[in-house]
Amino acid sequence: MPRPPRRKAAASDPEADPLPPPVSPTAPVSSGEEEDAFEATLRPQSFKDFVGQSRVVENLRVYVKAALKRGEAIDHVLLSGPPGLGKTTLARIVANELGVEYHGTSAPALKKPGDLVGLLTSLPPRTVLFIDEIHRLSPVLEEYLYSAMEDFFIDLTVDQGASARPIRFQLQPFTLVGATTRDGLLSRPFQDRFGIPQKLSFYNVEELARIVARSAKILGIETGGEAADEIAARARKTPRIANRLLRRLRDWAEVEGDGTLTLAIARKGLEREGVDESGLDAMDRRILQALAQHGGQPLGVKTIAAMVGEEPDTVEEVYEPFLIQEGFILKTSRGRMLGGRGYEHIGLKAPKLPQAEEEGLF
Ligand code: ADP
Repeated sequence: MPRPPRRKAAASDPEADPLPPPVSPTAPVSSGEEEDAFEATLRPQSFKDFVGQSRVVENLRVYVKAALKRGEAIDHVLLSGPPGLGKTTLARIVANELGVEYHGTSAPALKKPGDLVGLLTSLPPRTVLFIDEIHRLSPVLEEYLYSAMEDFFIDLTVDQGASARPIRFQLQPFTLVGATTRDGLLSRPFQDRFGIPQKLSFYNVEELARIVARSAKILGIETGGEAADEIAARARKTPRIANRLLRRLRDWAEVEGDGTLTLAIARKGLEREGVDESGLDAMDRRILQALAQHGGQPLGVKTIAAMVGEEPDTVEEVYEPFLIQEGFILKTSRGRMLGGRGYEHIGLKAPKLPQAEEEGLF
């Protein structure tokens, strides 16, 4: 649904809405209901509208079609990849395409076996149950899920001591779609129970430009193709970030111009948001600086996180994947090091380190 148009205001208008303070577009969690509503507005509802990830989409299309033919629930799906690449969106699309209910939750919200049993017994047949951050599920709950996933029942022990007894809860067939930013943290037996594991990869600039153009259309933002390309080039190859940047730049277009998002306004807004030409934000640059500080010696994630004032998990799950893929950071057996592109980015020359040469890093 398009957002209602805002009152147009010139920058000098004393009553103009002030621009919101810059927010890191890489912020790992949604920053509230407004953000959730914004994302929901832009979510593609069908495979047809989902841009990119062609191999994953093709595979899911086939499994959905086969399940529809047989009138069964599709096998459990594990979607892995960095945040903002479309895991939740795909889970919803699978439910839409199957014409079944969708229920979304996240592993940290499931604390006790009772939470899981309560949830699973309430699902209508063939529901797509989406569990985000599934690598954070406790081992106890993971074990309860095994029989639920394989044979659609859970044995829960009630009471304690001498009166303890198992009660069997029979479940309706369902499809678990697990999402994880860290598939390496999932135990092997758990991974093996997902018949359809799919890895999402970063998007290319052309795909992101299509996503930005689509989002601009939905939001009713006038934008020249050049502005969409500029956002696409600086969005860390991630649709969520592209959409967030578009949203921020809409504010700039309204306050600084006549509402049309031109290339000049996009560039100015991006600069003021602290997003540089490579798409890195202030935290990315702090991470690169931290790595440069120790003469290029390898550092562990915890050390980096302490130096930049961020949680280690956030550094590892949100910031690093892009920085590593693009060669800003190198992941070595001894820790993280600045890559050639990282040195270049902060205007330093890569030092000649014996171990770097040994490992063929530069
Ligand atoms: P994840 O669950 O992987 O963190 P989401 O599915 O929540 O990511 O996607 C984040 C946002 O990016 C959503 O608002 C969605 O609209 C948008 N998005 C993600 N992938 C695509 C895509 N392939 N095409 C269009 N929009 C997308």
